[in-house]
Amino acid sequence: RIECTGLGKSFPGALRAVTPLDVTFQPGATTALVGPSGCGKSTLLRLIAGLEDPSEGKVLIDDLPPVRQAARGAISVAFQDPSLLPWLTVRANVALARKLARQSPDPTLVDELIGLVGLSGSEKTRPAALSGGMRQRAAIARALATQPRILLLDEPFGAVDELTRRQLARDLPPLWQSRGTTTLLVTHSIHEAVTLADRILVLSPRPARIVADIAVPLPHPRDAHGADFRALLT
Ligand code: ATP
Ligand code: MG
Repeated sequence: RIECTGLGKSFPGALRAVTPLDVTFQPGATTALVGPSGCGKSTLLRLIAGLEDPSEGKVLIDDLPPVRQAARGAISVAFQDPSLLPWLTVRANVALARKLARQSPDPTLVDELIGLVGLSGSEKTRPAALSGGMRQRAAIARALATQPRILLLDEPFGAVDELTRRQLARDLPPLWQSRGTTTLLVTHSIHEAVTLADRILVLSPRPARIVADIAVPLPHPRDAHGADFRALLT
């Protein structure tokens, strides 16, 4: 459970990116964050990841500050610009996440995730030799490798083609849903928000505040779309 209380962020020059926000994310839920470019979505994710300190208010994840949770390997991020280590292969980048979180190596899981994001055959490739979309997919595999409790995805499919996106949208959510991962997904695609999330938060132009908090009704539209994806892919 992620609790943001009076959470705000200003940058030097009195630029306010996030107005005091009160919002709670329930365990196991997937929430899509949508809003205009520059409104403060990435800043909000960085605050929740503990990569940025709030100017006011606080974030608590199961009653602990984000940095404490991050130190335990409970939080995984895949950001807009995937920061893979250039001197390591895809497989080594994904495996390193587990090592950094002080988890046992799990080569089977690592290769399974690489397969799920469609990078089988590229295990030994280095990031510079991948396309932008392939790098993003490697970053998603890396984020999932620690089987995190909190998964923060910032436009993770931005550079991925439409067909592959749909395939990822079909294959990845069951992974994080089956483990009860609390997922926040920043996306510019309303379609993605509706099919992947059970809740959509619409943010205002900067500074970000919540202008709509929408529960995506059941039966989940994703079920209806599953059939379409399969038809497209076969
Ligand atoms: P996009 O959809 O384009 O990715 P966003 O909603 O993720 O946008 P943010 O990256 O959170 O937007 O930025 C929100 C505002 O905060 C912007 O005006 C940006 O210029 C500003 N900002 C973000 N990071 C910093 C920083 N480190 N220093 C100063 N200003 C920043
Ligand atoms: Mg952003």
